[in-house]
Amino acid sequence: RPWTATVLTIFPEMFPGPLGHSLAGKALQRDLWRLETVNIRDFTSDRHQTVDDTPFGGGAGMVMRPDIVAKAVDHAVQEGAPGPLVYLSPRGVPLRQAMAQDLAKGPGVVLLCGRYEGVDHRVIEARGFLEVSIGDFVLSGGELAAMALIDACVRLLPGVIGDEASLKEESFASGLLEYPHYTRPQVWEGRAVPEILLSGHHAKIDAWRREQALSITKSRRPDLIGTSG
Ligand code: SAM
Repeated sequence: RPWTATVLTIFPEMFPGPLGHSLAGKALQRDLWRLETVNIRDFTSDRHQTVDDTPFGGGAGMVMRPDIVAKAVDHAVQEGAPGPLVYLSPRGVPLRQAMAQDLAKGPGVVLLCGRYEGVDHRVIEARGFLEVSIGDFVLSGGELAAMALIDACVRLLPGVIGDEASLKEESFASGLLEYPHYTRPQVWEGRAVPEILLSGHHAKIDAWRREQALSITKSRRPDLIGTSG
């Protein structure tokens, strides 16, 4: 069975959305990966299909109920949804390329998308969810975060990108940000392409690119130096 992303959400109609286009979309059509959605509302038992309630302790907003979310998770797992359980959350560990690589090597991932103030903490603990953040900002729901994580994994799956060499050179593959790219025209608005790239001297070009990658990483993301992924 191909790599499978199972998304637990109250907005299943958002999927595949952008994942149905371009690289990921073509790979989905070719069955190089699969996308399953589980509508958390299907596991409610009241007439209004309520998934949320007011927070204990007071405060603004609503919280997704643990009993309803657990039913949706348990259903997905019983149906054979593969992979670790991940809850998208701004409090989570930051998503990094190394995590995408690890997930892409496994059988898939189960992604829980929060809405409102998020999910009752007990269900995160009780089902052993890993909390993952896609950045230090707050989205209104986990769906866009889930799509970002899925896209980062899918493009690493075998056969998805025609020229797999391109994966080896891009940002983070070496632990550094990538060197700058140039194409035709050779001179544009008075700006010429760096001379070295026209030299045909591959060793010198590689050295120049490494030096560019190092200097851009030092200036923009010094925290990446000395780490990998
Ligand atoms: N009250 C939460 C907090 O302050 O940490 C924010 C909840 S947010 C409005 C609703 C949902 O969006 C979250 O449960 C989570 O699933 C998702 N979300 C928001 N920002 C995210 C981020 N940076 N990374 C991953 N998921 C995020």
